[in-house]
Amino acid sequence: MITVPEIPIRYQVQALEREINSLRAYPVERLASVIRDVGFSCTSCAKCCTRSFNGHVFLLDRDVVVARSIDPRALEPAPDPEFCDQNGTFYVSGYAVRTQNDRAGSCWFLEDGRCRIYDRRFSICRVYPYMLHREAGTDGRVDWRQISGLDQHGEYHHAIPDEECLALARQTKEYECAFLTHEILFLRFMEEYFSKNGLFNSRKEYKRQIRRLSKGGSATVMVYHDGALEPHQVQGGA
Ligand code: SF4
Repeated sequence: MITVPEIPIRYQVQALEREINSLRAYPVERLASVIRDVGFSCTSCAKCCTRSFNGHVFLLDRDVVVARSIDPRALEPAPDPEFCDQNGTFYVSGYAVRTQNDRAGSCWFLEDGRCRIYDRRFSICRVYPYMLHREAGTDGRVDWRQISGLDQHGEYHHAIPDEECLALARQTKEYECAFLTHEILFLRFMEEYFSKNGLFNSRKEYKRQIRRLSKGGSATVMVYHDGALEPHQVQGGA
């Protein structure tokens, strides 16, 4: 999910379009070379499958179809909805994988430190820890980020064959493009939906509803999936 400040939707779309264009222009060979230099190797610590380490697992539409076919209970609206209309209904760009009720916030599909759907795991799980997006580093400088959680998990400096590095780079770029495309489609949909239904994004109502949820109240969240909105009732924690 991309956090959206109070700027008109069409400008948000334009910003994402610029981002996807620069992503498309990024040479896969450059990412492949970073992957080779870093030489990441998974140690199966399973940290990346917990919310405490990694935040939520956002699902593309194709992943939602897979999750529903395995266990529909694994889905929940992604956190931090982008919009709230003047009537207090939230709108979020997609689904996330539910977490278990443990301290780490383990993924619904994590069992004894292993993914129990490994062969059918989701798009982001297949490319992790590789990423390809521009964000601010600890020094505040915005630049391309290619590896998530560097030096916080796994082992490094392993030899990875060139063809594998290139394949990982292509897969990562495909994922990041698919994610941005999804966000752009969501924003365009919402612009039209608000306009057609006489609705608008209300930051005041957004804050009011978040406060209600924090006191144990409930709210409706409309989740964007496959070109439509799906309603969900969410209950806040008191
Ligand atoms: S689906 Fe599997 S690989 Fe993906 S976060 Fe969950 S346990 Fe980890």
